[in-house]
Amino acid sequence: MLTRSTFRKPKLERVPTVHTPVPAHLRRSASFARADGGSEAVEKESPIQHAGYMNVVRSLPCERCGHPPRSQFCHSDEGKGTGIKSDCRLGWPGCAQCHHDIGTARIYPKEQRRQIEAEYARRTRHKVESMGLWPKNLPRWSE
Ligand SMILES: [Zn+2]
Repeated sequence: MLTRSTFRKPKLERVPTVHTPVPAHLRRSASFARADGGSEAVEKESPIQHAGYMNVVRSLPCERCGHPPRSQFCHSDEGKGTGIKSDCRLGWPGCAQCHHDIGTARIYPKEQRRQIEAEYARRTRHKVESMGLWPKNLPRWSE
């Protein structure tokens, strides 16, 4: 028969609880409009996420290294707030590796990343347009 001579309590580290009031401008509003790329009119200020456009983009090779599709849709970092995706017309097709390098690993400094992504997005828009695949209900991007 097994008996335990000692019962060891797991040691819990004490973590001090800090209550910091969240400034009003940092609080996320409970409800924010999501542009779903549908046929409804899209507000000017809200970043458009057009499913059709994003699909076309995924069918293109990686804009960074040319890896054949399907690609991932990479949202540009436009100084967007956390959790808010930038406009889909600023996105570009990327293979898993490039999407990771630029979006997750952030191998480029912020400023450089923006320049690179702006260029990728510009080329992407041009490609989609020249292929005649620009969705009818998606407003053109003013260059
Ligand atoms: Zn790539």
